[in-house]
Amino acid sequence: MTCRSRSSTIPSPTSFTPGTSVTDKIKNTSTLSANSIDPGMSVVLRSSDEAPVDFTIYKALLIISSPFFAELLSLPQPPDTPREEMSEGSAIIQMAEPAEAIERLLPFVYPRFVTMPHLATLEELQTTLQMASKYDMKGVEKCLGEVLVAPRFVEEDPMRVFAMACRYGLEDAARIAAKHTLRLSLPERHYVAEMEHISAGNLQRLVDYYFACSAVAAAVARDFSWVMKDTFSFFHRGGCSCGASTYVLIAGGSMNVPARAWWLNYMKRMGEALKERPSLATLMKRDLMEEVFEKTKTCACGRKTILDMLEFREIFSAELDKRISEVELVLNL
Ligand SMILES: [Zn+2]
Repeated sequence: MTCRSRSSTIPSPTSFTPGTSVTDKIKNTSTLSANSIDPGMSVVLRSSDEAPVDFTIYKALLIISSPFFAELLSLPQPPDTPREEMSEGSAIIQMAEPAEAIERLLPFVYPRFVTMPHLATLEELQTTLQMASKYDMKGVEKCLGEVLVAPRFVEEDPMRVFAMACRYGLEDAARIAAKHTLRLSLPERHYVAEMEHISAGNLQRLVDYYFACSAVAAAVARDFSWVMKDTFSFFHRGGCSCGASTYVLIAGGSMNVPARAWWLNYMKRMGEALKERPSLATLMKRDLMEEVFEKTKTCACGRKTILDMLEFREIFSAELDKRISEVELVLNL
C-alpha cells in the first residue's frame, strides 16, 4: 500500500501539500518533524481514504488525551508484527475516518500553545466533536465546546449550537447558547437536525427558560424601582409641548418622579418587545430609540434626550442582563 504521510508533530495542517513526502517536508521546515521522533515513541494513524494518509504522532499525546487510545496502545505489539502493519518502525492504527477529519482533530490533542485549526462551519465542528466523543477525548471535547460558542456560530445559529452542546454533554456551551436563543421569538425557532440527538426534556427545559426570561425581561421594563437616578431629562417636572408627565416610582420605590409620556411609551413598547425576545439584542435595536429621537427633536426635551437615553440604555441593559442571568436553566446532560 502506498501512503501519503503527514506529520502531525508539525501542527499546522496548512503547511502540508498533497504528494509531499515526510522527507521533503523536513527539508522545508525547521519545525520538529516526524523523523525526530523515536519510532518507539510514535504511532501512525492511517486515514480511511482510498489513498490513505499517515499521521505520525507521539503516543504520549494520544494516551493523555484519550482513554480509548491509551487502552489500545497498552496492548503489547507482537514481536512478529508484519512490516505492512508498521511504518518506519511505528505501529499503524487504521482509522475509520478520512484524512481531513483526522487533520481537524489532531491539533486539539496538542497543548494550547499550538495554533488551532480554523473550523469554518458547524459541520466541520460536528464531525470533529463526533470523533473526540468516539475516542473519549474529554479535553478535546472541552476545547471544541469553546469553539462551538464562538460568535460566528452561536450568534448565527443558537438553536443548533444548543442542540450540539446538549448532544455532547457540553454544559457551559449549552448555557451560553441557551442565552443566545433568547434573541428568537417562539415562532422564529425552527427544527434543526441535531435535535434528533437530544432529549425532549432538555428541549422543553429550553422553552421553560424562554418563558421565565420573557417574564423577567417584561418586568424590568414595567417596574422602574431599579432606576436610581432622577436627573434624566425624561424625569422632568416642567411643562413641555410633547405632553403631560405621569408620576412613577423609582429607586426601590423611595422616589416618586414625573416621567414624560414619550419615555413611558418607549418603556411600554420595549416591554412588549422584550416579552417576545428577552435578549440584550432587543434592547440594542435602533427602531424604538429612533422613534424617541424623532418625537422629541422639536420639543423642549430634545436637547438632552439623546445623551440621556443612551446613558439610560446602558443602565437598562445592565439590569436586564443581571436579571436574565439569575434565571435558572436546569439541564440534564
Ligand atoms: Zn418634550
